[in-house]
Amino acid sequence: MDYFGAPYPKADPAPIYVGATHVPTPVGQACIYCGKSILAGDNGFMIPFQGKDVALTIEPWHRLCFLESTFGPELLKIVREQGEEEFGESIY
Ligand SMILES: [Zn+2]
Repeated sequence: MDYFGAPYPKADPAPIYVGATHVPTPVGQACIYCGKSILAGDNGFMIPFQGKDVALTIEPWHRLCFLESTFGPELLKIVREQGEEEFGESIY
């Protein structure tokens, strides 16, 4: 999986970044999850996406949107707080 922005945490990136390729931030493209435009300085992943009768594409997904889709909003709040406390940087 490719990622854009900074890995997290910066000093010792999570396993999802091991072997992943850093790509330029896809500024202006819409996040596949929230639909908001990717901005310079955003962090996230490039995710293969294929809908019914739609060709395979690689779409940007904000890191927080990706985590929210995995953990749900309540657990994501806890993950954010613990991550920021443990690593001293925002998981954004
Ligand atoms: Zn998003």
